[in-house]
Amino acid sequence: MKYIGAHVSASGGVENAPLNAAAIGAKAFALFTKNQRQWFSAPLSDESIAKFRENCALHGYQPWQILPHDSYLINLGHPGKDELAKSRAAFLDEMQRCEQLGLDRLNFHPGSHLKLISPEDSLKIIAESINITLSKTKGVTAVIENTAGQGSNLGHQFEQIRYIIDLVEDKSRVGVCLDTCHTFTAGYDILTPEGYDDTFRQFDNIIGFSYLRGIHLNDSMKPLGSHVDRHDSIGKGFLGVEVFKRMMNDSRFDNLPIILETPDEDIWAEEIRLLYGMIE
Ligand SMILES: [Zn+2]
Ligand SMILES: [Zn+2]
Repeated sequence: MKYIGAHVSASGGVENAPLNAAAIGAKAFALFTKNQRQWFSAPLSDESIAKFRENCALHGYQPWQILPHDSYLINLGHPGKDELAKSRAAFLDEMQRCEQLGLDRLNFHPGSHLKLISPEDSLKIIAESINITLSKTKGVTAVIENTAGQGSNLGHQFEQIRYIIDLVEDKSRVGVCLDTCHTFTAGYDILTPEGYDDTFRQFDNIIGFSYLRGIHLNDSMKPLGSHVDRHDSIGKGFLGVEVFKRMMNDSRFDNLPIILETPDEDIWAEEIRLLYGMIE
């Protein structure tokens, strides 16, 4: 079964996210558990935590249908000692927020080498960051999102993600989220039936579907291999509708949070209906 939703607003408190998700007919959702553009946020209040759990139960959202996303400021592969420490502290805080909310996974962008160290050295730092965080938390899986490879962002090649996973000690708490826009602009041609099959065969061989913990479903404003991260509404960008139709009928994407991060939130309800309508 497919669980489709969107990255909804948590403005006014995390407890509003499940309500916002239910209002658009979502069967899954993503949220920020703190302001994603600030380093520090006030801790979650007991009231907010209780209401979040209550609202999730009310609308039937289980932890595995929810894919929180961390702050954009965090760089777990940072070459600088102080900056890395700051990122690791912020990431730990995000994981602990997930623990408090009873969530079982946290989606993050692996990190950037900033052209100051080699990609390989930065990947090693990322894996160490994950190990440190997992040793201090319980029950939450660190979910690495593949990227478009913009600038010095790592994680645009399946091999890089595999490299990180290989260095993670607790493999039961590391996973992957595939973003369709990032996959495409990173250079994986999922547009044609052959390219689609080949991309997911590579994903399975190099990383493995057993690590897949979520999908970000986005069309792309930029072409194949452009390495630019610009999401578009479903069917309006370079990907069109066929690839999404293929995914909706692909059982490898069953029972996972499938999250829209498309730019026009006014049509999320419509996009969710459109995607469910593609299932044959
Ligand atoms: Zn992301
Ligand atoms: Zn994404």
